[in-house]
Amino acid sequence: MSTIPVSDIPCVSLLYKLDRLKPAESSTYTPSSTYNDKIALLRNDITKLEVDSIVNAANNSLLGGGGVDGAIHRAAGPELYDECELLDGCVTGSAKITKGYRLPAKHVIHAVGPVYQSTKRQGKHTSLLQGCYRTSLELAVDNKLKSIAFSALSTGVYGYPSDEAAETAIGEVRKFLDSGKGDSLERIVFCNFTEKDEKAYFDMIPKFFPPDQTVEKKDEESPAPTSEDLAAQLPDPPTKNPSEEGQPDAKKLKSLKES
Ligand code: ADP
Repeated sequence: MSTIPVSDIPCVSLLYKLDRLKPAESSTYTPSSTYNDKIALLRNDITKLEVDSIVNAANNSLLGGGGVDGAIHRAAGPELYDECELLDGCVTGSAKITKGYRLPAKHVIHAVGPVYQSTKRQGKHTSLLQGCYRTSLELAVDNKLKSIAFSALSTGVYGYPSDEAAETAIGEVRKFLDSGKGDSLERIVFCNFTEKDEKAYFDMIPKFFPPDQTVEKKDEESPAPTSEDLAAQLPDPPTKNPSEEGQPDAKKLKSLKES
């Protein structure tokens, strides 16, 4: 299995240069080239990423399930399950950290996202999903990690609509960076697996991370690499649907009982 180094994951600045990301019609956020160099986006299997931490969409037991959770446990090996057994589960809206074992990622942050339907009825879905992203970022900073890659928490069997989840996820990351707490993080990656999630992120990123026109102007004065040069740097998206590999139904049954 070929792995993907963090330096090969395209950042938002590069995606604007390639014209893969289009500026939003309006954005209330201040453009920042520092942020746009830090935020990265790709569609791929998260278990291939050579990053300091990947964020797993876990369930309350932290003892494995289908979807991305199953893929991470399979790739990390049984030692991950053994460490998870010692953690005493995790409440929804929070996260716990373990080592990455046989994964190319050094650590796994296990975040428990909300089941959309039941938590929406209680009006708690947004704050619980925000809690997952905030806690994961705090764990990365507290453990002196430089890079973190998020899977699209709750958008699989937990049923969170992709566009709403992307807005909450990206908004919470922007809030964290604006607070100054994320200064030590060098890369924050949104790793999608499905086309619908990828599209939601491409639509939503420009709203929270608009292009920094001053940097683009400066770049135009020096000979710029061609789009082909830049595009050659992008890793290939996955060709298989995740449901072909995981057992999401198993997780669904478990999680619906838990929530
Ligand atoms: P949840 O129960 O929180 O919805 P799932 O694992 O069902 O968790 O799905 C979360 C997201 O993870 C979904 O968007 C799904 O497409 C994605 N996913 C599944 N497998 C992988 C993988 N190997 N790498 C990255 N993302 C994945």
